[in-house]
Amino acid sequence: MATLKAVRGTRDLLPPETELWNRIEATARAVFARYNFGEIRTPVFEDTALFSRSVGEETDIVSKEMYTWEDRARAQSEKSQSLTLRPENTAGVVRAYIEHKLGETGQLQKLYYIGPQFRRERPQKGRYRQFWQIGAEVIGPPSSGSESPLRDAEVLEMLATLLDELGITGWTLELNSVGSSADRERYNAVLRAALVEVAPKMCVDCQRRAVTNPLRVLDCKVPEDQPIIATLPVIADSLDEDSRAHFAAVTTALNAAGVAYNLNRHLVRGLDYYTRTTFEFTHGGLGAQNALLGGGRYDGLSESIGGPKAPGIGFAMGLDRLVLTLQAQESVESSAAPEKIHAYIAPLGESLNAAALTLARELRRAGLRIDLGDGGFRLKKSLETADKMARRIVILGEDELRSGILTVKDFASGTQTKVPRAELARVLAEPSGR
Ligand code: AMP
Repeated sequence: MATLKAVRGTRDLLPPETELWNRIEATARAVFARYNFGEIRTPVFEDTALFSRSVGEETDIVSKEMYTWEDRARAQSEKSQSLTLRPENTAGVVRAYIEHKLGETGQLQKLYYIGPQFRRERPQKGRYRQFWQIGAEVIGPPSSGSESPLRDAEVLEMLATLLDELGITGWTLELNSVGSSADRERYNAVLRAALVEVAPKMCVDCQRRAVTNPLRVLDCKVPEDQPIIATLPVIADSLDEDSRAHFAAVTTALNAAGVAYNLNRHLVRGLDYYTRTTFEFTHGGLGAQNALLGGGRYDGLSESIGGPKAPGIGFAMGLDRLVLTLQAQESVESSAAPEKIHAYIAPLGESLNAAALTLARELRRAGLRIDLGDGGFRLKKSLETADKMARRIVILGEDELRSGILTVKDFASGTQTKVPRAELARVLAEPSGR
């Protein structure tokens, strides 16, 4: 029988690598807490319409990459429904914001999430079909200040702080404004006009987008189309006074806070819901898939899925890519052996197994990291196993059990001592090798 493997584009995360994942997640949670964000967890699958209406029909994500299926009704009272594994989490968060009427609190909502997302992309280094995102959203009714450029600057400053605290060095913040929806409409018209002449020389996708959603032409990855794209008008020239002032206020606040950025007039991002500020943090060490994270403002998203006016701004960072970046940076550190546990308990004979479990329970409750052998093992095997993973071995034979004085061998110094059970936890907690 052919062996079963993880599906193409998905992978297992094993210890000790998962320690790095947990460390990144813990740092992100700690930073978000300092900025007064709370955690939200939304379902992994949603109604397909949520993504087509928000991310956009013409985007690569919706048109090519979603895992969508028709979910058959189980009972007469149910309807069949088209469902999709979430390709991103902002749409789900905004759906939840609307569903739970969070806007009625009048307060700005600051929410973060950590979880898997799914896109049927061509797998390569840093690009998977199941990948993890850490993201956050700041959303609320206009009266909560959700449209303020200060919110944009604060989110970007938080991201700079988070990357610094994760120990990621050498990142670049690419920044642009794609304007309000009115600016976008104006720009779409300019772009559509410019495309009339050049679109026939472009790929078939672009020929279609030139008519249906011209902005998406700018996401095209086909190499032959790039020289043509470079000649197209830029969105900056279509921004009105308000959009220019909003963007200027974002950059003024970033300058004041000392957050460095690159103005990138070609950055439009591959999702339809973005308005005004858009950004990406890139890292040279990642190769072709160089975006650590991306995000932007989405002032019309709530309304596009039937909600109240609720401007917002958010981002999603690729956890897989943070891990790759840190692994490359810390190659020396991460190749070092994982830290050893406090002790390995070796019962001498199966009749001592139950007593060994009790001893392990006592020590673990005292906060020590303990592993437990089996009385069926020979002492030589226990010593070899323990030496690989633990600083000390505790030998539990009939004599030790009766007298309450245990035999402890310290692997670093090679010394063997007798330790009363009442002092065992204290002795095992001491550094080894003495
Ligand atoms: P997006 O939701 O497309 O704006 O992507 C935000 C971030 O998620 C990117 O900057 C990447 O770090 C990460 N990301 C997106 N797609 C993938 C993928 N297929 N595999 C791994 N990470 C991804």
